[in-house]
Amino acid sequence: MDSIAKLDVLAIAAHRDDTEIVCGGTIIKLVDLGYKVGILDLTAGESGSRGDAITRQREADCAAEVMRLTFRHNLHLPDAGLFLTQENALAVAEIIRAAKPELVILPYIDGQRHPDHSAAGEIGYRGCFLAGLGKMPIAGEPHRPRKILYSCSFLETRPSLIIDISSQYERKCQAVACYKSQFEEIPGQRDVYPPARNIFDFMEIQNRRYGYMIGAKYGEAFYQKEIMSVDDPLKLPGKSI
Ligand SMILES: [Zn+2]
Repeated sequence: MDSIAKLDVLAIAAHRDDTEIVCGGTIIKLVDLGYKVGILDLTAGESGSRGDAITRQREADCAAEVMRLTFRHNLHLPDAGLFLTQENALAVAEIIRAAKPELVILPYIDGQRHPDHSAAGEIGYRGCFLAGLGKMPIAGEPHRPRKILYSCSFLETRPSLIIDISSQYERKCQAVACYKSQFEEIPGQRDVYPPARNIFDFMEIQNRRYGYMIGAKYGEAFYQKEIMSVDDPLKLPGKSI
């Protein structure tokens, strides 16, 4: 599962369960559509309050199987000590050159509770940029992803788009359920995602809310910096009134 293969889509996140929680339905949907999808976890979760790195490795492998990833790689950068540095961005750039994804999914940078999540978005963006420069001191041919989407589910920002994950929601929950060390109930330790009392309640509320916005049962939210061009406005999805 660890060797780098050619991908269509690479999701980058700070911690092993981040991608599953914020955009796992979209990852599964992309695989359902026939794309090759991989995840790059920047840290091994060694500083988390719950579970150790070996347990979290097993859990991440379990989730990768549920999502049918092409590969899942870990950079083993310091957990709870993730910062935007040239060294970290180059490490990401090297993976991007090897996997050559067209689409990269990053954590939305603003408004994150855990500072590693913002840092992962910054490192990921810079990694995408540096991967395309010819004279970087890293292996591989220059490659720059064409599209970057920032995963912004559960943050107070207006998304650019919402992806319907109604057919994938159940498998998303299965992927998140692999992380038993994180989400099995321990009284008094259930305040990570207030006000919901556990992660599954939280996802049910939030993914239903995003689904509601597009007339679907479940959805996941994304932001993109660029404005999209449209050739035929009559074929724009969504109803205005
Ligand atoms: Zn995290």
